[in-house]
Amino acid sequence: MEYRQLSPETVPGFLKDIPIMQKIFSDLDDLEVEEVGDGNLNFVYKVRQRKNPEQTVVIKQAVPFLRIVGESWPLSRTRMDFEIQALEHHTKYCPQHVPQIYYSSTDMSLVVMQNLTRHAVLRGEMILGKIFPKLAEHISSFLANTIFPTTDWYLTGGEKKVTVGRFINPELCKITEDFVLTNPYEDHETNVYHDEVTQADKDYLQQDSQLKVAIAEMKYTFMNHSEALLHGDLHIGSIMVNEEETYVIDPEFAFFGPIGFDVGAFIGNLFLAYYAHEVRQPMLGREPFEYRNWILRTAEETWNKFQSKFEANWVAHEQNFPHSYWSYPEGRIGFALQRQRFLSHIFEDTIGFAACKMMRRIYGLAKVADIAEIPDLKARLGVERNVMRMAKGMVKQRSAFRSIEELTALAQEISPLS
Ligand code: ADP
Ligand code: MG
Repeated sequence: MEYRQLSPETVPGFLKDIPIMQKIFSDLDDLEVEEVGDGNLNFVYKVRQRKNPEQTVVIKQAVPFLRIVGESWPLSRTRMDFEIQALEHHTKYCPQHVPQIYYSSTDMSLVVMQNLTRHAVLRGEMILGKIFPKLAEHISSFLANTIFPTTDWYLTGGEKKVTVGRFINPELCKITEDFVLTNPYEDHETNVYHDEVTQADKDYLQQDSQLKVAIAEMKYTFMNHSEALLHGDLHIGSIMVNEEETYVIDPEFAFFGPIGFDVGAFIGNLFLAYYAHEVRQPMLGREPFEYRNWILRTAEETWNKFQSKFEANWVAHEQNFPHSYWSYPEGRIGFALQRQRFLSHIFEDTIGFAACKMMRRIYGLAKVADIAEIPDLKARLGVERNVMRMAKGMVKQRSAFRSIEELTALAQEISPLS
């Protein structure tokens, strides 16, 4: 099939030729198509049958450029190949947290999937101050169950290397290397500052030698530590939720990288929301305590559950060190120590990458609505300064934290719960 860019007008005709669509739609001549506007890189269409709107799918198609910028920013559409491969992997190891995939085509750079009609994007829901009691349970499962089977603790050395090869994703990794791990820490032309940001604010981030060294180390780790297959962009805009269910979408940044990068992306976004809600809860007419407390407890629960689920997976399946390796009188202790040391290393990376994900949302090109849409610029600046203080403390001291509770305590020291 030759690639062509779809439009709302051409989507119905395209779907009509896909046999499996007959199982979803009772009448393929009666489809209505709506383009979803909130993605940055790609085109997303919601398709419904007019007379039976519960018969519905989502089509996501990559175009050979960046959607929000246009053709002046070329970006190869092979990013969809990575998204498709990652979705297949996520479906295999954690189907309950991935939309069902009905059809995919690398020729057309698209995927047709379950329309999550009873769910909304987590960032928007958190801006509204909604609580999701199962979020930490679900995200920790997603992380532990999709990441573990791509590590060298599970795959053989040969399998691992072949799989790494299938996920060499240089273009999207470069976006992260530039926009998350370099540009915000210098006065770069792609940065965006609002009017209240002072020179001292910029210098706080851009002229601190210890911070620069720490960021350079995180970037090197990102570029070299191919520990496991990652989602690659696990912020709270890549998660769709309701009170009962959680789905992870949009894995086009998938690549083999340091495990802490995914865990840190999620936890860093929780901290961004924590600081935003110092201002947002009063804007919603509420006392800040309850919601912000839920956010910090969610960060703690996510790390603690991720750690124990990852470890349980490891105990259940250990590939490259056979039973005999640990079979000596102290062997159980040795194996436990090995797991503990590896998990502390992931924790250190988690803290470092969470910090990078936080800082880049303040001065970098892509903002988060939680903070950037706070209308009062002075209030917004106050939130941003708290984020910067927290993030700097995190990345510079990342090896000093002994538990996630120490990290949430720092968050509260900078901005008390209420
Ligand atoms: P992009 O890669 O362009 O950022 P996303 O995968 O994040 O695209 O999708 C853009 C938006 O489309 C999401 O924020 C969400 O609102 C909507 N969307 C994506 N996938 C689904 C789905 N399976 N069901 C419902 N809405 C979806
Ligand atoms: Mg995307």
